[in-house]
Amino acid sequence: MKQATKFLMSSAMMLTIGLLSFTNVHAQENKADLAEVKVAVAAAGNVYLTFDDGPNNATSQTLISNLKNAGCYQATLFVWGNKIANNQSAWNAYLNSGFSLQNHSWTHSQMGSWSYQQVYNDFQKCNQVIQNAGKPKPTKVRLPYLYNNNTITQACSALGLSIVTPTVYTSDWEGASTETIINSCNNLKAGGNPLMHDSYQNTLRALPTVVNNLKNRGFGFAQY
Ligand SMILES: [Zn+2]
Repeated sequence: MKQATKFLMSSAMMLTIGLLSFTNVHAQENKADLAEVKVAVAAAGNVYLTFDDGPNNATSQTLISNLKNAGCYQATLFVWGNKIANNQSAWNAYLNSGFSLQNHSWTHSQMGSWSYQQVYNDFQKCNQVIQNAGKPKPTKVRLPYLYNNNTITQACSALGLSIVTPTVYTSDWEGASTETIINSCNNLKAGGNPLMHDSYQNTLRALPTVVNNLKNRGFGFAQY
């Protein structure tokens, strides 16, 4: 009996010690979790690097590798649908990039005088070519020339596309220098996206510094 009592007591003690150390381990883990939360709060947030008008055999591959080599693995490519046929190697680079492929219309037209059905069909065709390539159905659109009216808003809404308006304008489409593009992107804030294009050498040259400057400011990168 005595032995059995001793055994029971020591078992109870071991169980208590076990529970205490179990609790302690979890307290430490919780502390580690809190530390991670603090780091996340300290970071400046994410920015969304976006590129319109591709695919483009002359620039797409370099664009993608410049971003990744600088440490940016999340970006959004707004696809100009009817350029795909003549830019197949760039399109394959898009598909293999892991970046988000979103809608920049099929014909990239000035749609100001178009009917609802014309607008709808044009954006729908771009959605379709992206989905036919095995990618998710686009949920975002960059409007050609950033031009908008009620017909365009309604057609995009019917297609499940929300309009992404740039928060920073690099003027890369107007021949901006590499330095100007870099300086524009230095004005990005958390959640922002710059208007840039997969078309210009100066954009490609600016990207390593753009990415590094954003990282140095504490930003991460996200894609739509
Ligand atoms: Zn465009």
